[in-house]
Amino acid sequence: MATITSKQSPKKVIILGGGIAGWMTAAAFSKLLPEDQYDISLIESKQITRVGVGEATLPHLRFFNERLGIDEADFMKKTKATFKVGIEFSNWQKKGASFIHPFGEYGQPINKVDFHHAWTKQRLNGAKHSLDDYSLPVMASLHSKFNFPSSHLDSISSSYAYSYHIDAGQYAKFLEEFSEANGVDHIEGKVNQVNQGEQGHIKSLLLDNGLQINGDFFVDCSGFNGKLISQTLDVEFEDWTHWLPCNTGIALPSDHTENPVPYTKAIAQDAGWLWRIPLQHRLGNGHVFCDQFTTAEKATDDLVKSLLGKPLADPVSYKFGAGKPKKSWYKNCVAIGLASGFLEPLESTTLYLIQSSIMKLIEVFPENTNDFEELDIKAYEYNRCLDNEMLRIRDFLILHYCTTERTDTEFWRYCKNMSIPDSLTEKIELFKEFGCLDTYQHGLFRQPSWVAVYLGQGIIPKSYDPRIDLIDNDELQQKMATIKNQVGEAVQAMPAHHDLLIKYLNKSPQNRTKASASMSLYGRT
Ligand SMILES: Cc1cc2nc3c(=O)[nH]c(=O)nc-3n(C[C@H](O)[C@H](O)[C@H](O)COP(=O)(O)OP(=O)(O)OC[C@H]3O[C@@H](n4cnc5c(N)ncnc54)[C@H](O)[C@@H]3O)c2cc1C
Repeated sequence: MATITSKQSPKKVIILGGGIAGWMTAAAFSKLLPEDQYDISLIESKQITRVGVGEATLPHLRFFNERLGIDEADFMKKTKATFKVGIEFSNWQKKGASFIHPFGEYGQPINKVDFHHAWTKQRLNGAKHSLDDYSLPVMASLHSKFNFPSSHLDSISSSYAYSYHIDAGQYAKFLEEFSEANGVDHIEGKVNQVNQGEQGHIKSLLLDNGLQINGDFFVDCSGFNGKLISQTLDVEFEDWTHWLPCNTGIALPSDHTENPVPYTKAIAQDAGWLWRIPLQHRLGNGHVFCDQFTTAEKATDDLVKSLLGKPLADPVSYKFGAGKPKKSWYKNCVAIGLASGFLEPLESTTLYLIQSSIMKLIEVFPENTNDFEELDIKAYEYNRCLDNEMLRIRDFLILHYCTTERTDTEFWRYCKNMSIPDSLTEKIELFKEFGCLDTYQHGLFRQPSWVAVYLGQGIIPKSYDPRIDLIDNDELQQKMATIKNQVGEAVQAMPAHHDLLIKYLNKSPQNRTKASASMSLYGRT
């Protein structure tokens, strides 16, 4: 048996898995960890296919790329990316109803009170204003327009952020090349056996080709199976399928029939929902559903019927369950990506979670991997942060389902009547009664996101912040009208999404100037 022995120093960090999670981890480690202190290797088996889907992303990905020094246009060309400023939800509250969850603010605070309170007051007084009129990214989506956000923070044009729709397979390939160029050792082979020390810490991985890879610290990016965290370290799984019952996804790309729009579509079906994601060269389509309420045949049939263009491949099916291992970091192993749990892709959160996990791990990376006390302390902090992220995302996703008014199928009746976590019940009650929102500085889905889904699903607060009453009603109407006009004018001045995209990608690097907003809502992870 051939053996690769780890040196005392630098520490040997082994990443198991070459899907997006593995390559994002390898790319970030190779760029952001001191290279004289850590040797990074990535093991993957070509026998075990990557999941590969993951086309809709959140604005944070821009910062990930920026921190790695990746040129945006180069990345967009290689991943066939388009811009994205939100997600449209159709048929979720009831058939025929839709709303957009934008990457940005609604209006601007009025006398330091969040805008939705002013809107609620007008609404309770009988006005029929659409909240959409006060959101630049919503209006831009509806008109298929896009421009880079302004860096002038007092301008309405700075009130949004953007992300991308990408070909996820190409992104993994892009990061693979990036990581290898940065010195990551890429090892091919299937891990058949994991060797552990007396206290259960992982010492080495035995591959099917006879190689034994020793390591000091292991990152499990092996996908749904969780080869290290679940199969070896036996960390218990926390099951959330009661609240998020969808357990199957079918992906099927198709031809474009029109220019790509700058938003993702999530269209509710009888027992789940369809995604439609516009890339430069094709549409990504898929059907996420619960197999207890429909059959794979019907779900595939519905997906095929929904296609706008010719299918470009055979449908591919994925099985999953909502939930996560109770600890993502256990002993000397951290699980990232699908190995650390899954929440369905309704709000495009998985790549974000990978990014957030990587950045947190880098922040608390163990200095002495033989010091089990240091490992435990850092694991505690890491798991605390990741748990917070997952729980908030879980509640936010459940909100889309439990607030439905649909009773036309067994699936929607289940969602409408299911019990929900106490943490979510409290949030919904607070908003229903007073228009109040849980506030926090870090993590995903700040106040405007919750407002978008609450109001989009038809939950109108019974009251509003009383400070709004300090403003004279005419003045309030005037201020709201001004914001609406500013949004309308800004959208009118924006180029069509497709035109800007083509122009941007074809410009020489020195001519690609763009401004970027502060992104306070989409804090750098
Ligand atoms: C239907 C669906 C739609 C999705 N849509 C989105 C989306 O729009 N946006 C988003 O952000 N995310 C989305 N996701 C999630 C996204 O696809 C994943 O987060 C992403 O692909 C990362 O997967 P991964 O790298 O963790 O695992 P995988 O892609 O499964 O990679 C696992 C790797 O581990 C290797 N491996 C496993 N076992 C072994 C072994 N024993 N030995 C050696 N190698 C091994 C495999 O070879 C592979 O390289 C979606 C997921 C699904 C299922």
